[in-house]
Amino acid sequence: MPDSRSGTSPLRVAIIGSGPSGLYAAEALTSQDDVEVSVDVLDRLPAPFGLARYGVAPDHLSLRSVRHTLAAVLDHSAVRLLANVEVGTDISVEELHRFYDAIVFTYGAATDQHLEIPGEDLAGTISATELVNWYCGHPDAAAERVEAAIMAATSAVVIGVGNVAVDVTRVLSKTAPELEHTDMPQHVLDLLATSSIRSVTVLGRRGPAQAAFTTKELRELGELADADVLVDPRDLALDPVSEADIEGERRRERNMQVLADWSTRAKGGGRRTIRLGFFSQPVEIIGRDRVTGVRVERTRLDADGSLGGTGDYTTIDADLVVRSVGYRGMPLAGVPFDTARGIIPHHEGRVLDDDAVVPGEYVAGWIKRGPTGIIGTNKKDATATVHSLIADAPRLPRAAQPDPDAVTTHLSDRGVRYVTVDGWRAIDAAEIALGESRGRARTTLHDRDALLESARWSERD
Ligand SMILES: Cc1cc2nc3c(=O)[nH]c(=O)nc-3n(C[C@H](O)[C@H](O)[C@H](O)COP(=O)(O)OP(=O)(O)OC[C@H]3O[C@@H](n4cnc5c(N)ncnc54)[C@H](O)[C@@H]3O)c2cc1C
Repeated sequence: MPDSRSGTSPLRVAIIGSGPSGLYAAEALTSQDDVEVSVDVLDRLPAPFGLARYGVAPDHLSLRSVRHTLAAVLDHSAVRLLANVEVGTDISVEELHRFYDAIVFTYGAATDQHLEIPGEDLAGTISATELVNWYCGHPDAAAERVEAAIMAATSAVVIGVGNVAVDVTRVLSKTAPELEHTDMPQHVLDLLATSSIRSVTVLGRRGPAQAAFTTKELRELGELADADVLVDPRDLALDPVSEADIEGERRRERNMQVLADWSTRAKGGGRRTIRLGFFSQPVEIIGRDRVTGVRVERTRLDADGSLGGTGDYTTIDADLVVRSVGYRGMPLAGVPFDTARGIIPHHEGRVLDDDAVVPGEYVAGWIKRGPTGIIGTNKKDATATVHSLIADAPRLPRAAQPDPDAVTTHLSDRGVRYVTVDGWRAIDAAEIALGESRGRARTTLHDRDALLESARWSERD
């Protein structure tokens, strides 16, 4: 039987972030029956799903469909969505404690890392986050910057060899018909259709044996309609460290096979060329007013696996540089933070401040572990955190104003226009209708006002 916490009200839980980890946490809370819960999921954006909407590549339709599973969580009667509410701006963590018995931080780690090399700020240099935000229709995308960079480009360099680097390379190399079936905003689709980019060079500091991409993502590059993939056979010669790294590692072995196949293929006459370059460390982005090239040092792996420069420098011509070298979490006012690791410190999901547990505060997802793992990884992670929360429930300090209306009244008094699940459903319907009007299954609304305007339809009944 549920413990109704001294026979009064359900346990009030706020989840900060409606990405995969937030919604998996909500699912875990509502699937247990030890404690009766009432859950609010807050998100700073008007639309839910975090990187499942604003990260996963739009041409990966089956992966993006995880949103249907996540959306079902929002339909649970004990779960309420309060989107368009930024914690730290619209409401503080201190205030949240007035309304909730427990808070679960699942606000992600989607700020991009820098290369820390000269020229990084030159026009024509953008981060993968900026590019991904733009093509996924994130309301805060730096659209003008990204569009100016793409429109002026014929040769792109992508720095990084993870799955995100492969995503952006693929999107920049696809033809318009190959992108038509996605839910990209229409202006993104239109601009990519006119792109003059003819070559994309992907650079990894280490060798192919150490590259983080999965074989499935890698193979897709070889299946594009109008692009040829080139690999320098010199990069595939295995040093002892790489041999040891590959040994018994199926993903790495398969990657090497795919790359070896490409290294012997003749150029197929595609309009675009994708070059995969390894052992290439960018040392400077070159250009006066805007980027004209990337200076690269050839690297080698020393016997202990450390990376060393060879003193052999080359310059790759480029008028667009996309850096894709990882993500980082940011602190939230009033919440302990491990600056070195970019995460909220915790023990079994309980937030720690100087090694002491902060009562009623929990963490899950990328802001707990750092930016690693696939969407599914967050389910196990969020469930583990919820286990800790439920175990603590009888001892949690109680909120002063647990009535669910108290927090929404507080937000309304502040002039915050929160979006509920009905609002999200109205956005969903508007995106489908917009897509259908252009013969597409769906078109993402990218403008915050347009999203809020669509959400408002749910309030007019
Ligand atoms: C470009 C990219 C592509 C990816 N592609 C894949 C893929 O194809 N397959 C796969 O399995 N995984 C993929 N991943 C990984 C996957 O997206 C992550 O594992 C997952 O999204 C992490 O979930 P999260 O909930 O911790 O964070 P997020 O998904 O980032 O969600 C965090 C949420 O918190 C909200 N938020 C942030 N700050 C605040 C605040 N102050 N107040 C309120 N809300 C806030 C954000 O708006 C966001 O909705 C990709 C990641 C990236 C970056």
